[in-house]
Amino acid sequence: MTQQRETPDIEPHGLLEEITEVPERAMVIFAHPDDAEIGSGATVARWTAAGCEVVYVQSTSGSSGSNDRSMTSDEIVPIRAAEQREAASTVGVETIEVLDHADGWLDPDRVFLEELVRLIRKHRPEVVFAHDPERFSGFNHRDHRAVGITAKDAIYPYARDHLHFPDQIEKEGLQPWKVKHLLMWGTDQPNVIIDVSDTLETKIEALFKHESQVGGLATNVDVATRLKKRASDAADGFNFDYAERFRRITARP
Ligand SMILES: [Zn+2]
Repeated sequence: MTQQRETPDIEPHGLLEEITEVPERAMVIFAHPDDAEIGSGATVARWTAAGCEVVYVQSTSGSSGSNDRSMTSDEIVPIRAAEQREAASTVGVETIEVLDHADGWLDPDRVFLEELVRLIRKHRPEVVFAHDPERFSGFNHRDHRAVGITAKDAIYPYARDHLHFPDQIEKEGLQPWKVKHLLMWGTDQPNVIIDVSDTLETKIEALFKHESQVGGLATNVDVATRLKKRASDAADGFNFDYAERFRRITARP
């Protein structure tokens, strides 16, 4: 008997639901500086322009992110922090919560879970963006998986239920919080789409703030071309030019 291997492709556009509603508050949880811009930068730029308050949660310092052999981890960290502030500001995000995990060492453990639960309870986002931990079509950075798994767990049930991390409620003055939607980028199976035709250029501009990562002008042109192609492909079949796609999980009411 031949075993048929299931290889789910990107779903046809008819199965993608377009999101037009803009929440009041959102949070982007990501592993390294520049992941947020790549994953959801254009959507975030669109939402902040419409009045949504967005908080960034950067899980690692990006201490291993350099191809320059003369660069040390101590040198790259402040450079990447400054770049991330500029990039965030470009898409309208002024609040960045930075967690002090080492780049490449992120684990979906209880320490990280407690940190994410605390930040969700503190900022009370209706929508959270994060890496999809379950992508199987290619390599997925270990830190990206750890963020995806832990963000998912933090939303449900930990941030929602008062008996998880009760000290946050009894001693830190926080309240349980129910996130409505998790939107995951880098996914094999997107089910929602957002028109980002007006803000794709802002995403590209934000990404270029990460100078230590994207490099010189020639590379920038390549990166911009690639991002535009990807966003244009994502919008295929829709009546707009550029899109970001996500896999959405919605909490039961
Ligand atoms: Zn990353």
